[in-house]
Amino acid sequence: MDEIGRRRAIYLAVLVAVEGALAACSDTQAPGTRNVADKRGRTPGAGGRPNRPSPSPSPSPTPTFQPVAVPSRKPIHQISELNPAAPPNSIALTIDDGPDPEWTPRVLDLLAQHHVVATFCVVGDAVREHPELLKRIVAAGHAICNHTMSHPQPFAGLSSERMSAEVTGALREIWNTTGVTSRLFRAPGGSWSPAVLETIAGSGMQPLDWDIDPRDWARPGSGAIEAELLHAKPGSILLCHDGGGDRAQTLRALTTVIPTLQGRGLTFITL
Ligand SMILES: [Zn+2]
Repeated sequence: MDEIGRRRAIYLAVLVAVEGALAACSDTQAPGTRNVADKRGRTPGAGGRPNRPSPSPSPSPTPTFQPVAVPSRKPIHQISELNPAAPPNSIALTIDDGPDPEWTPRVLDLLAQHHVVATFCVVGDAVREHPELLKRIVAAGHAICNHTMSHPQPFAGLSSERMSAEVTGALREIWNTTGVTSRLFRAPGGSWSPAVLETIAGSGMQPLDWDIDPRDWARPGSGAIEAELLHAKPGSILLCHDGGGDRAQTLRALTTVIPTLQGRGLTFITL
């Protein structure tokens, strides 16, 4: 089997695993749901169950990435939870809700200027609209995280069928555009529940959270965003946005924060 065939086999196997895991999930919202969804009010997409893919033609495809052997059942807040071998001075910047035609290129330019790599948590609908931006992100060496197809909130309140469509839709969109099989998943607004975690673990993906949140989407001022981001410690996962609205404050804050954190001896890594 050639490389494209192997990649397709892996992709289809992941989709089958996701749908298989979802078959065991309840349609009701699990108790203990944490909902810290933001208020940006994105409109959920049409949803609906994707077409079931054909069975993989290969029973043991060669992986194209090295996921942690057992997917975490808890959202990851620190680099060490995902990658215990990461250097102790590592720090990770995650950038959510793009790609966006106005802000993503500016963020990419800034990261390139400082030789920084980040992890972009992308929305499938935006990828479909701006595939060239996702290709540019990947070409620059950044990592990709699945952030659902249409960013519905609260994500944990969705039916298992809709949840599946959101996860597999974005997985498919990212793969079709770049050939990348995203192994990370971030729930919109950090809306986790046992059902969400079961879905993500069943797909072999890691649930990704953060430990530094400047709430930049609410535009509190670049000074406030900067001050919060500078609370970062070695091993921190920072949350910022390049989509969902005017990100001028975020960009301005990062212009200062990135060199300041580098000056403290921290190195930005992908997740
Ligand atoms: Zn988001």
